Amino acid sequence: ETIGANLDRTVASSADRDALVERATGRRWTYDGFGADVDAVALGLRGLGVVKGDRVGIWSPNRAEWMLVQYATAKLGAILVTINPAYRVHELEFVLKQAGVRTLVAAPAFKTSDYRVMAAEVAPKCPALEEVLFLGTGEWDALVDAGRAGDRAVLGGIGATLSPDDPINIQYTSGTTGFPKGATLSHHNILNNGFFVGELCGYDEEDRVCVPVPFYHCFGMVMGNLAATSHGACVVIPAPAFDPEATLEAVAAEGCTSLYGVPTMFIEMLGHLAARGAALDLSALRTGIMAGSPCPVEVMRQVIDRLGMDEVAICYGMTETSPVSTQTRAGDSLERRVTTVGTVHPHLEIKIVDPVTGVTVPRGVPGEFCTRGYSVMLGYWDEPERTAEVVDAARWMRTGDLAVMDEDGYVGITGRIKDMVIRGGENVYPREVEEFLYTHPDIVDAQVIGVPDDRYGEELMAWVRLRDGAAGLTAESLREFCRGRLAHFKIPRYVHLVDAFPMTVTGKVRKVQMRAEAIGILG
Ligand code: ATP
Ligand code: MG
Repeated sequence: ETIGANLDRTVASSADRDALVERATGRRWTYDGFGADVDAVALGLRGLGVVKGDRVGIWSPNRAEWMLVQYATAKLGAILVTINPAYRVHELEFVLKQAGVRTLVAAPAFKTSDYRVMAAEVAPKCPALEEVLFLGTGEWDALVDAGRAGDRAVLGGIGATLSPDDPINIQYTSGTTGFPKGATLSHHNILNNGFFVGELCGYDEEDRVCVPVPFYHCFGMVMGNLAATSHGACVVIPAPAFDPEATLEAVAAEGCTSLYGVPTMFIEMLGHLAARGAALDLSALRTGIMAGSPCPVEVMRQVIDRLGMDEVAICYGMTETSPVSTQTRAGDSLERRVTTVGTVHPHLEIKIVDPVTGVTVPRGVPGEFCTRGYSVMLGYWDEPERTAEVVDAARWMRTGDLAVMDEDGYVGITGRIKDMVIRGGENVYPREVEEFLYTHPDIVDAQVIGVPDDRYGEELMAWVRLRDGAAGLTAESLREFCRGRLAHFKIPRYVHLVDAFPMTVTGKVRKVQMRAEAIGILG
């Protein structure tokens, strides 16, 4: 099934149910209205000459039109290129050229950035780019009006020419370990994945899903939007960009049953909740998803106790695999939800292999996580060599993540192959050391990296964020705290106090950047 056909079915079965709520403007859509507006945008874009296979870029923070464009392009069979709102001219130019974007739909501005100025600077350098449309302007309204006056039956005709295996989306990876790569995904890839995420979250038409995570990333557009619409559930957009207060208020006001975030977002929401005077009614919250990076135990406990998200799931995956490969189930113990990323998703295969030999390792032994099945991307856009480096002839995707599988099939992620530190011949998984550092009463966040060392090859360096009001912590006092409780080779040699870590917009710590900065710090 294509995304367009799936949406049409939801519109037919849930016509007067809520589909979408945009808190910043108070705008709301039922499925009937949402389906009509999607079709208007699709016909409007069609009127500009957008056809199957054309790349349409969307460069905007979260807003209702983002979703309208997402489904409208799917109906035309055009390929949606999702562009990070934090991108500046350099990255924008890279993406527009790399994906050969024909039509760019953009917000006029975001925070301190004027997208009009940036787009005007970049456009002349992008030969494939034919038009740039700004949301919330007269030209956009004119496009939608023209589409509304069009014949919706035309879209049925186009739909009949589309295949679920057509490319529908180019999503760039987070750029945590290097320059972002454009994963090309089909209807089948992302619709199925969104559908199964929704199944495992138990979604139905009664659910209201609060999506503060960015739409340009698979977390928002697949695990949020597609999971919800394929089940007739409602998407609630709390704010254009993550804001802990707006998010919690949206949950309370809209009676959201599900809430998404990366661990750092939940940390901020819990902090806001604790600092806030008046109580918020979060009683409708039942489930949600935490993904993207490992969740500290204490955070998970509070998400369940303070936010009431008893069924909160942990998902693991990557942009290249649509994204989800494993997910915890509603009945899993707290223990499992903090120590593992759950078990394999329906209709997918996973295996853990020795990263050097490629041979499957026994249960309990760390190795590289690999997955195969409908979720594996078509390939990196226009980069067959890079695709071949990660997807083998038998269609197994190598994730570059280190994992262990237990006897029951639960998978624990122990880090990225690139982040593993080899100190004096011992493999150290930074995650394990970070978990231990969290137990220090003055530490609120800790990140561990390897830095070059003449004697041991690499040494450990901990970047630490202290609790407000905590007195300074020295490398020596921290080592003293670790002694006798961590093996000697896992004890950080260097400690660097920070107020914040270098982050990607998806809330992941950029260890590449930390390693580069550390070399400067250590001289
Ligand atoms: P790039 O590939 O550009 O370096 P990225 O890998 O961070 O960036 P994404 O595709 O957004 O880009 O993220 C996928 C990665 O996120 C996974 O490969 C894994 O390292 C990490 N990840 C995802 N979910 C989890 C999780 N639940 N626990 C731990 N790590 C996770
Ligand atoms: Mg990656």
